[in-house]
Amino acid sequence: MSHAAVFVDKDGTLVTNVPYNVDPAQLRFEPGALAALARLVSVGLEIVIISNQSGLGRGLFTWPQFLDLRQALERRLRDEAGVALRGFYICPHAPDAQGQATCDCRKPAPTLLLRAAQRLDLDLSRSWMVGDTLDDVEAGRRAGCRTILYDSGGETLWRDAPERRPHARRTHWSEVAATILADAWRERPSAGHTRAPRPAAWQRAG
Ligand SMILES: [Mg+2]
Ligand SMILES: [Zn+2]
Repeated sequence: MSHAAVFVDKDGTLVTNVPYNVDPAQLRFEPGALAALARLVSVGLEIVIISNQSGLGRGLFTWPQFLDLRQALERRLRDEAGVALRGFYICPHAPDAQGQATCDCRKPAPTLLLRAAQRLDLDLSRSWMVGDTLDDVEAGRRAGCRTILYDSGGETLWRDAPERRPHARRTHWSEVAATILADAWRERPSAGHTRAPRPAAWQRAG
């Protein structure tokens, strides 16, 4: 059976947003993010980063610089939380002067999530997208995922549309994890074969 994933935006969600940063020394995880990801992984969820990195297309940093940062991020997730990422998908393209995408992979397009799901055999309908902007929410909804707006102040425009309304809005990673775990727990009995009802304690005693 394909796995459920938690797709996570990088800047402003997993790590505190430092615009166009590629210096590993400036990586700061958002409060509670490491513990939350460890909990999500412990119930079998796959963690996949989905990130717009227009700094590449804008010429603000190079691929080697970005790959160094990515490696440092993955190493810290492993060392500090025991979390191995299942995937890391980015859009490297710059939008036009009006902020409109010039490619088909920049969020709010769902392309990166769809690509990850196909390559990694992920069940989008049981997966979540967590991000700090409504573009993340829209990408998640268009991919068929549930969505959480992690409100760290990253959204400034609040352009409204049905596909930009998150399923939940949270301000701390511990609440993000609790929301996803509550749902994963509810779904568990129907995920595979039907289970016999658990006998009451007095029935098990003998
Ligand atoms: Mg972001
Ligand atoms: Zn792109």
